[in-house]
Amino acid sequence: MGVPHTEVNAILINGKSEDFSYLLKEGDTIKIYSFFTTPKHQEISELQPKIKEKVRFILDVHLGKLASFLRMLGFDTLYSHTFEDAEIADISELENRIVLTRDKGVLMRKKISYGYYVRETNPKKQLIEVLKRFYLFEKITPFQRCLNCNGELEKIDKQLILDKIPEATRKYINNFHRCLNCNQIYWSGSHLQNMQNFINQILLEKINH
Ligand SMILES: [Zn+2]
Repeated sequence: MGVPHTEVNAILINGKSEDFSYLLKEGDTIKIYSFFTTPKHQEISELQPKIKEKVRFILDVHLGKLASFLRMLGFDTLYSHTFEDAEIADISELENRIVLTRDKGVLMRKKISYGYYVRETNPKKQLIEVLKRFYLFEKITPFQRCLNCNGELEKIDKQLILDKIPEATRKYINNFHRCLNCNQIYWSGSHLQNMQNFINQILLEKINH
């Protein structure tokens, strides 16, 4: 009926918990639950696989803003505006990455075990939605990843990058980080303060949840 398998978290047939292998019979009563609507009951088995290792994402081409928000919070997030659907499915399978998309067609690919259809359209609301869906509020480690390329950041000695920073910054700022992948330099300043405020707002959502 057009619902991707990644969105079906529980199936009850005539009141009994079943999985995707069940063959329907005439007169069966079927109830299907998403992750958010699954009743918490020990006799209901959840069908979506639990993520055993560190959570990692791959996002489709329409979720660029969400990708940089996830990176800002420290989550390993692949994103490229050139990704084809088949490529996303392949990488997801190979690296156990959760596919985030607003395209149900992508999620219907068999290769994808970990996937999620993002309901919200506003990037900030999308971020909160994803944090809730995958229980990530406790796993936020801000400013560890490059917003541009997903590379990891490392502390760097100011003296080594003097020629790459504006004069005013050189004067007042002492802590610098560099992306190990693309060499982008990051430092605390008004931009970082804005990000910190944003993260504080996100963490408030956890309390409200
Ligand atoms: Zn980078």
